[in-house]
Amino acid sequence: MTTRYPLVVVGGGIHGVGVAQAAAARGYRTLLLEREALAAATSRSSSKLIHGGLRYLESAQFGLVRESLRERELLLRLAPGLVRRVAFHIPVYRHSRRGPSTIRAGLSLYALLGNLGRNARFQRLTRGDWPGLDGLSPEGLRAVFRYHDAQTDDAALTRAVMRSAESLGAARACPAEFLGAERHAGGWRLRYRDRAGDRECDAAALVNAAGPWVNAVARTIAPPPPCPPIELVQGAHIVLDRRLARGAYYLEAPQDRRAVFVLPWRDRTLVGTTETPRGDTPVPAAALPEEIAYLEEVVRRYFPEWRERTEGSFAGLRVLPHGSGRIFHRPRDTVLVAEPGHGPRLVSIYGGKLTGYRATAQKVMRMLAATLPARRGSADTAELPLTPE
Ligand SMILES: Cc1cc2nc3c(=O)[nH]c(=O)nc-3n(C[C@H](O)[C@H](O)[C@H](O)COP(=O)(O)OP(=O)(O)OC[C@H]3O[C@@H](n4cnc5c(N)ncnc54)[C@H](O)[C@@H]3O)c2cc1C
Repeated sequence: MTTRYPLVVVGGGIHGVGVAQAAAARGYRTLLLEREALAAATSRSSSKLIHGGLRYLESAQFGLVRESLRERELLLRLAPGLVRRVAFHIPVYRHSRRGPSTIRAGLSLYALLGNLGRNARFQRLTRGDWPGLDGLSPEGLRAVFRYHDAQTDDAALTRAVMRSAESLGAARACPAEFLGAERHAGGWRLRYRDRAGDRECDAAALVNAAGPWVNAVARTIAPPPPCPPIELVQGAHIVLDRRLARGAYYLEAPQDRRAVFVLPWRDRTLVGTTETPRGDTPVPAAALPEEIAYLEEVVRRYFPEWRERTEGSFAGLRVLPHGSGRIFHRPRDTVLVAEPGHGPRLVSIYGGKLTGYRATAQKVMRMLAATLPARRGSADTAELPLTPE
């Protein structure tokens, strides 16, 4: 007999595991299919920030920033072993696009959107503090601001959310590749392939959380669901064998004035990221020589005394709505696409942020509320602690 689940989730990145956790918390027996390993793709290649996204203020994405700051506070409380507060420094140089008063205004708004809590405070450092800033170039420096955001291990966070989902009754098939689904009365007949061969199961609802493969997965579903055009944009990081003493740095790339982060990562330093268009079909994400050169140039400009060579690199693919404007200014909101009409049986997740995975999962479950049978939820994801392995 074919097993029937209320919900099947395709993709074991942060969004897939987030939905599995939210569904299991509401009492739905959920199956998650992941073809490689948990956090095999984008969710292991991010900048690892749990943040509001200071730069999104410039493109007036206030809702996104407010929600992300709320989720940051929640994750700092729920996952103290996985998410930690980090000091960020914004140096303002004579050549910087934004002067001290603009940075102060931005940080004030960021603090306001963060409800002026403990992590919302910021300060302008005194000149006496500058020499302690990891060798930051003083040449043309006018001011340095310090504020706080948070950092995580993205892959470890993904695994922790899946463990939480499993503790609530969710099942995981991994490696298991989703092959397609056909609509029938009452939901879907799904096909997937695991180590034992091809299998089938039924589901009342399906969530497509395949990240960069979201449209590839959508194209295996019949009848064809809405499939908005996307652009995949690669973001690369380099890894330097250096330990940062004071926290993170938020810099303006001298080449094109984009934001680039220099971040503490274990006993290393991460520098990222780039934005390289990669079309609409996923390619294996790997840092290109020109991306590495771009990031190394940023380091040379701001930390001229550093002698460490790049010892590694990694890259991930952002899913952005197809558009004509500059990539840097495109909206970074998560877009949830459901079948038209009341009671959708399929929701696809496009784009989004690691930081907002829990809020996104809540929205997905609200969209499926009319489809799934009524259940009395056993837990609230805003209360469930997440622990490292
Ligand atoms: C360079 C970069 C930096 C970023 N930095 C940050 C940051 O600092 N903070 C932040 O909040 N956000 C950040 N983001 C955004 C965040 O990383 C992503 O939004 C998030 O990781 C996407 O997760 P996902 O689950 O949607 O996709 P993924 O993590 O890509 O997961 C999709 C999964 O689906 C699986 N899959 C695909 N097809 C199938 C199939 N047919 N069957 C079964 N499984 C399948 C894949 O193997 C994969 O594991 C960044 C993104 C990038 C690219």
